[in-house]
Amino acid sequence: MLISRTKNNKVEALQQIRAYNIKHSYNVSSFLEDYRRLLQRAVDEIWNNIVWINKTNKNGRNRIIPIVPKSNEFKNHYLRNLLMKDWRYSKHYVDSSIKQAYSILKSWRRSYIKGERRREKPTVRKRFVRIKETLYSYNNGKVKISIKPYEEYIMFDISKAWFLRRAKGEMGELILNEKYLTITFRSREKIKTKGSIAWDCNEKSLDGFSPETGWIRIDLTKLFHIHRVYEIKRKRLQQKASKKISLKKILQKYSKREKNRAKDFVHKLTKEISREFKNYVHGFEDLRKENMFSYSKEHNRRIAKMNWKMIVSFMSYKSKVKLLNPKNSTKRCSRCGKINAPKGASYACSRCGLRINRQLNAAVNLYLQMEGLSPSLKLFEELMKTWSGFTLTGEEADEGFDELKRSPRPMNPKSYESQKTT
Ligand SMILES: [Zn+2]
Repeated sequence: MLISRTKNNKVEALQQIRAYNIKHSYNVSSFLEDYRRLLQRAVDEIWNNIVWINKTNKNGRNRIIPIVPKSNEFKNHYLRNLLMKDWRYSKHYVDSSIKQAYSILKSWRRSYIKGERRREKPTVRKRFVRIKETLYSYNNGKVKISIKPYEEYIMFDISKAWFLRRAKGEMGELILNEKYLTITFRSREKIKTKGSIAWDCNEKSLDGFSPETGWIRIDLTKLFHIHRVYEIKRKRLQQKASKKISLKKILQKYSKREKNRAKDFVHKLTKEISREFKNYVHGFEDLRKENMFSYSKEHNRRIAKMNWKMIVSFMSYKSKVKLLNPKNSTKRCSRCGKINAPKGASYACSRCGLRINRQLNAAVNLYLQMEGLSPSLKLFEELMKTWSGFTLTGEEADEGFDELKRSPRPMNPKSYESQKTT
């Protein structure tokens, strides 16, 4: 994962994690199931010791806030001893489970506070074990993982593995599941970058800009459509609610499918973008910071935001990603810096007279931020210079392509930008 904050305009040394899978034929299912239970027990125990307190938020509403027990006494004595009791395997798995249980509850708590999750104890469903660097040995091309001390271990000969030549850095955490062992490598080296592309996320498109590539518009209507289809399905189902069918189950099935289809799309999309714009740093708005959607309750917006978060997260696994501050990116004129109140698809500046596609304007603003630049008439001209050789086709923002294969498609920003001649 590659994420850096945008405090200065330099790309810092970024940590890169690559993962490789090895198929194995060990029968580890009972061990994995025991670990899953151990982990669930750790979650249960922490959950039972949560203290709920009443708090009034700034709107005067009362909320019950969970305080997770974190004292050394609880964590490293009480909980550890309890879990250790009937654990037949190596002790370090108990420590891993405690760590993992805390991180599960931490992320649940974060979502609960935001109102995204209910007061419901998290359930551990997936069967896998994380094995930290200190908990396995790697010698002469062999990875040795202890299952039971002095008794049972599993060994993987990776001396001839194809990825060893390609993998950079140190071997990190391992993840074991029923079929695979995942080996991660961490490296801190700097990769030479070709440049920066800033992306503006919209409901139906992703709009990127860099002086090297120009305007890139990627169609997201397909993704939007996936959600729309399920929305209609759900509505239909709810109308039939009088027939006593198990609504909840079907709705759950729908939302799982919807999520999987969206994930699948975003996976392909981000793969395509990282391949097409290899060695570029990709800038995205930091969606955790934004206050830009006062209308975030609106259904479509919520879905769009969920998609963008997914896009940024998936991109960060495949490329370098830089997070940007979303403030005023759609309102500021990328040519003269004035804050306007844009309406509709095109942006018009009341000061310098720039008329430009609204999304392109936002992408240029984000690009400037990425590079630590401030808007100026001269700079704007400079940025668009490469594109002056293009003829102004005046073509409309193309709605005509919906195949992922044909996008991303660079467009000529000049054809979407015009200035009043004074
Ligand atoms: Zn302007």
